[in-house]
This record gives sequence, structure tokens and C-alpha cells, in this order.
Amino acid sequence: MRQNIVAGNWKMNNDLAQTETLITALKEQQHTSNAEVMIAPPFTNLWNAFEALRQSDIEVIAQNMHFAENGAYTGEISAGMLKSIGIQTVILGHSERRAYFNEEDAILAKKVDAALANDMRIIFCFGEELADRKSGNEEAVVERQIRKALFHLESIAFKNIVLAYEPVWAIGTGETASPEQAQDMHQFIRKTLSNKYGNGVGDNMSILYGGSVKPSNAKEIFSKPDVDGGLIGGAALNAEDFYAIVNAF
Ligand code: PEP
Repeated sequence: MRQNIVAGNWKMNNDLAQTETLITALKEQQHTSNAEVMIAPPFTNLWNAFEALRQSDIEVIAQNMHFAENGAYTGEISAGMLKSIGIQTVILGHSERRAYFNEEDAILAKKVDAALANDMRIIFCFGEELADRKSGNEEAVVERQIRKALFHLESIAFKNIVLAYEPVWAIGTGETASPEQAQDMHQFIRKTLSNKYGNGVGDNMSILYGGSVKPSNAKEIFSKPDVDGGLIGGAALNAEDFYAIVNAF
């Protein structure tokens, strides 16, 4: 079923001491909305964050994983390793992984399969670049990204997937898609899923928006009927800002 979700992607920020400080501040915040709350610290702080937030309603999730179970993949982390410390959810396909680490659709499809085989939930990210939007190709790009990484799956698999539409031109730039642009794309994404799998999948999918969401714009974006929350970068590094977004429903 569709759920409101706000997930904070810390990216490569916060060492151990900073993680402890931010988690202490997060625990002091009031949670007044019905949104599920998640944070994605760097790998080195996952266990510490998981332990610190065990009794809380904040889920600690991973920013990435490899598709193999184990083996000669220096520097990588598997789904099984994440599961072994209690992590149940992983972000896949973030535009920074696509752009800087060559994570193409075929690799992402393998990662999706590995996460699902390990009973993990996935926040699957995708979104067009500025040139795509300027040339009017944003829907074609988004359709292709979803189709190539996800359309080999059975419909049942979508129960464990959350989608995150993140236009690349709005990530970390301060430039947000307008609430109407987000709504239009989310509606298109639901239609794309419904065309392939039927309305059950399209209607029930939680679809997050990501790209410079801040306390000042979250309420308007989240008020759109096909927007079920946000994947938050910069504003997730400040506890007050993050909870202003969590509570913006
Ligand atoms: C992100 O990294 O997924 C993101 C949306 O970043 P920001 O909120 O900083 O644009």
C-alpha cells in the first residue's frame, strides 16, 4: 500500500562523532506526521546508527550495495552483509551512483534482483538530466530507466519497492522541480506502471520526490496527490530541517 515516507540520504557526510551528534538531535525531534522516517548514513556508521536508533521509529537504511553475494569485489558491500547487521532497506540507482560510478540500467537490474533475493526493500532512484527536460524528453528517459531496471520483475516484487523520482538538475542545486512538475511526472510514473502491471501496482506504489526539498517547499510538494514523500539530501543533515520536512504532510 502507498505510504508517506521521508528518507534522508546523508551521502558521504558525517564521521562517527558527527553521526552520534546528529542522531542525538534527531531523537529530540517531535514526529507529528504519519510519514515513515529513514536515514541513510555512510557504511562506516550504519551499525552505530542502527544500534542507536533500535528503539526509535527511524529506520536506518543503506545508500548502496553490490549485486554479488560475496567475492573479489574490493571495496564493496553485499545485501547479505547489510542484512546481517539488521539493515532492511537500500537506496539503488541514485544519480550520483549513475554519474560517478557508471551504474547503468543493466547493473541496477542486477542490484535490484540481489536486494529482492535477500528480502530487502528498495528505494529505486531515477530521473532525467537538464538536457532531457530542455528537449522535452523527460518522460521517455524516466520510462526507459524504470523499464530497463525493473520491468523484468513479477508484479509481486513491487511490494518491496519504493520509487524516488529525482530530476538530476534539482539535486543539490537549490533548484526544485515545481510541485506541478513533480505531480505530472509522478502521475506519468503511475501510468507507466499501470500499463505494464495493472492499476494494482500503479496505484499502490509509493513514489517519492527528491531534489532540493527544504522545510520551505516540502508542504506544497507533498500536498500533490501522486507525491508520497521525499528523498532528502542536504536538508537531512540538520535535525530540525529534516523533521520540518518529515512533519510537512
Ligand atoms: C539526493 O541526494 O537524493 C537529494 C535529493 O539531494 P538534495 O536534497 O540535496 O537535492
